[in-house]
Amino acid sequence: MKRNILYKSTRSSTDPVTASEALLRGLAPDGGLYVPTEMPLLSDLDDGGDLTAALEKLCEMDYRSLAVSVMGLLLTDFGEEELRECADKAYGSGFDDEQIAPLVKKDGMYYLELFHGRTIAFKDMALSILPHLMTAASRKLGNKKDIVILTATSGDTGKAALAAFADVPGTKIIVFYPKYGVSPVQERQMVTQRGSNVRVIGITGNFDDAQSGVKEMLSDSTLAGELDATGCRFSSANSINIGRLVPQIAYYVWAYTRLVKSGAITVGRPINVAVPTGNFGNILACYYAKKMGLPVKKLICASNKNKVLYDFFTTGAYDRNREFYVTSSPSMDILVSSNLERLIYEIAGCDPEKCRLLMRSLAESGRYELTEEMREKLSCFEAEYADEDDTAAEIARVFSKAGYVIDPHTAVASCAARLFKERSEDMACGVTSDSPIVVVSTASPFKFTGTVLGALSRESAGDDLEAAETLARLSGRPIPRAVSELKDAQILHDTVCGKDEMRRQVTDFLKKPTC
Ligand SMILES: *Cc1c(COP(=O)(O)O)cnc(C)c1O
Repeated sequence: MKRNILYKSTRSSTDPVTASEALLRGLAPDGGLYVPTEMPLLSDLDDGGDLTAALEKLCEMDYRSLAVSVMGLLLTDFGEEELRECADKAYGSGFDDEQIAPLVKKDGMYYLELFHGRTIAFKDMALSILPHLMTAASRKLGNKKDIVILTATSGDTGKAALAAFADVPGTKIIVFYPKYGVSPVQERQMVTQRGSNVRVIGITGNFDDAQSGVKEMLSDSTLAGELDATGCRFSSANSINIGRLVPQIAYYVWAYTRLVKSGAITVGRPINVAVPTGNFGNILACYYAKKMGLPVKKLICASNKNKVLYDFFTTGAYDRNREFYVTSSPSMDILVSSNLERLIYEIAGCDPEKCRLLMRSLAESGRYELTEEMREKLSCFEAEYADEDDTAAEIARVFSKAGYVIDPHTAVASCAARLFKERSEDMACGVTSDSPIVVVSTASPFKFTGTVLGALSRESAGDDLEAAETLARLSGRPIPRAVSELKDAQILHDTVCGKDEMRRQVTDFLKKPTC
């Protein structure tokens, strides 16, 4: 059965739009996020509507074909051929593992390695396909305007988006990152980005400042008008764009099929998933996969020391009024998790008015509280957190147990998975739950060499490259090209601005004739 899926805003009942339109717009005009009006089901992939048969079919596919099938359920105004073309361009030579997202078993856990793309973080999974989806959407809608991608990054989205959109005809991209809140490799990756259509700007604020600045510009109708007059329109490469979420759903289905293929489970058995969480995009994709019928029992939301989500799930109150910490897992240093809005919308019974009021309360007072009725709908979520010591200890523990080196973000999830496992075994009186736990591994350890070597009590001797060589020896993995190519790369971007100057930076860049 083929459904026609449309997208509507979480904040008002305006007319729904097609996937292409939602993709191009990024954010809804009322400042809300686009959500599907109806959730398609994986079982729709079987003619008889049978989930087991659909999953069995998916088990026989390679990553690209599986991604095309899953994305096709949600992007229903795209043709299969169109999606196939996008997937072929995205998931090819840019990845250094032919599995695209290998699932490896270490120390009783299954690590889903999502860092084999060009910028060695999981953002590549969605961002390497996003420009192709946008170009196709543009073509379909007869859009003649240049698309200006505005992006806020906590470290990894920026580079993945830059690499994906650099020199793509009909697009320009501007990235804002927290000048003092990303790892040295992350910063170097961004400021060395080439391309005639790219701009990278450090801001003297944190990710939340960058994100709220970008969201303001995206929903500013005056600015949109100015842009329109120059033949441009804004869009977003952040996970507020459904074009980011949809490709992410695919790898949860993929992980499930790998567990079946390896004999760890039979089709239909449930799994648990632990996700290192910041902006709530990655784990929301897992939630959508579950709603589409993927047998996922628990979603374990893993936070670092900025544990606003842990507190939210354990108390039912979201409160961003707290100290902000710069941690060793910078891509999770976030106090306002944008995509949580999509979950709030769901548990508010898909009532945009309720959702809008809570989001207004968040904007005005920095907090909101769920009703008992809403909280009950969160029973599939578990929350855990790992502070800085826990994170380092987990890196060391996994290495000593399994000889496997993980990055600090993955370590937060790995630690959370273990805490969850211990807790559920306690509840089951020592009887081990038979559902495997997939730990989502979001970055290569080579992106955080200093932290990782520190946790392994290895001197990070010499320069970055020597440190990378030490890590290569310990992990038995070659130094990824994303790191080795940084050595001779020239710094091309050095602008730093205050958070109040973001808008001027954007208008200045767009005035330049070269871009
Ligand atoms: C972005 C990122 C995260 C957080 O993902 P969200 O979708 O924002 O929750 C975790 N780990 C790494 C390495 C990331 O780049």
